[in-house]
Amino acid sequence: MNKTKKIWKNGQWIAWHKAQTHVLTHALHYGSAVFEGIRCYQGKKGTAIFKLEEHIDRFFFSAKQLGMKIPYTFYEICDATINTVKKNRCSEGYIRPLAYYGYGSMKLTPSPELPIDVIIACWPWGDYLPVKTVDVVTSPFIRIHPKSTITEAKISGHYVNSILAGLAIQNSPYHEAILLDSDGFVAEGSAENIFIVKDNKLITTPKGTILVGITRNSVIEIAKEQGVEFEERVFKKEEIYTADEAFFCGTAVEITPIRSLDNQVIASGKIGKITEIIKNQYHKMIRGEIASFDKSLTWVN
Ligand code: PMP
Repeated sequence: MNKTKKIWKNGQWIAWHKAQTHVLTHALHYGSAVFEGIRCYQGKKGTAIFKLEEHIDRFFFSAKQLGMKIPYTFYEICDATINTVKKNRCSEGYIRPLAYYGYGSMKLTPSPELPIDVIIACWPWGDYLPVKTVDVVTSPFIRIHPKSTITEAKISGHYVNSILAGLAIQNSPYHEAILLDSDGFVAEGSAENIFIVKDNKLITTPKGTILVGITRNSVIEIAKEQGVEFEERVFKKEEIYTADEAFFCGTAVEITPIRSLDNQVIASGKIGKITEIIKNQYHKMIRGEIASFDKSLTWVN
């Protein structure tokens, strides 16, 4: 792992190797933590954090769902995130805010005295997936059910579902898995949302079973700006087999075209026309090269 120097923890800067926690930390046992994954990029005017406020907003939303009162304001967390990037001179990388129920009581339902610890780390991180165009398989695991949890919250415990989907394809030819919902409709990838293109129209899964991605929202913004038609509706995996194009989107994977699903090559197997437009525009958007998307960036220096 690419280490950086300092991690922000509960309002203080500590050295990377000193950022440790007790083995009886509540979140370590029960997944009672919330987090964000944010990227920063080297742009025209220096380093920029992409969609900082949207991510911190979701961070507070997730915490609230878990009954957590983060002991800092929205602006304090935004500032601490900016300063983490600045202090580490992390000109291009990944930022990880995490809030977790700490060390105190091991009772499953967090007792009010349990501390809420908050950390922000960042490190240089390149491509998340191993190839530029991915081969995908339908997972035997279904996506967490919206009546079992709050799917729109980025709660650490949810990620066991994604980890199981990932482990099931380890040592296989597939680069990523798609999880269906309990009715057999496509939900999302293990850490990304999905779009398909049919007859020049972008289609994506509606809210309900998915984590509503900030990149997903950016894709919708780009589609509007480019005059590409767009629809949110449920679809089955067979619609992906016969789609004109398909791609994943997420902070980590950015825009990643899908070559095949369940060994069925999608169209020509090459990046499609609309995917290419979205990918190129996204690349410009994150680096501050499109004036109308300037508000998406927080410049660090
Ligand atoms: N779905 C899941 C399950 C994820 O973990 C992520 C990554 N945060 C996404 C979708 C994409 O979300 P975002 O675009 O906000 O990174």
